[in-house]
Amino acid sequence: MFFKKSPWIIHYDATSCNGCDIEVIASLTPMYDLERFGIINTGNPKHADIFVVTGSVNESSHQVVKNIYDQMPNPKVVVAVGICATSGGIFRECYNVLGGVDTVIPVDVYVPGCAARPESIIDGIIKALDILERRLVEFRKAKTEARRQEKKLRRYHLND
Ligand code: SF4
Repeated sequence: MFFKKSPWIIHYDATSCNGCDIEVIASLTPMYDLERFGIINTGNPKHADIFVVTGSVNESSHQVVKNIYDQMPNPKVVVAVGICATSGGIFRECYNVLGGVDTVIPVDVYVPGCAARPESIIDGIIKALDILERRLVEFRKAKTEARRQEKKLRRYHLND
């Protein structure tokens, strides 16, 4: 399987203080070099395999989070970076905050920290790669099975 070796990520700031965003960007720079895993940061959800979200989700951002997630092709993995994305963090009690990213979409990996350190972000992405690989195997199996059933149905109708 080569999919694991070239995943693309999309990063969205749901409403962070920018602390976690700076660390996400730092993890992609040559110093921490997340790109050594073949990862590219894309701006297009339709090209992305891993959704990296920072900040808590609020009344303004929850629909954007959902839209990005829905536009990503399957299989996909979501990584919540920092305590705000995990649970709402220090903004949890704000009047317009709904909570962590999992109030809107399913989250696969939670990266702790305030701000999350680049080393933790890299650990989280590596975990996401394993999940992505497992999902891809399941996805291919399901697709093969669906094709098999379709052929069977077609044969059945032809013999009718
Ligand atoms: S976890 Fe900390 S650094 Fe990250 S967005 Fe929240 S307040 Fe900012």
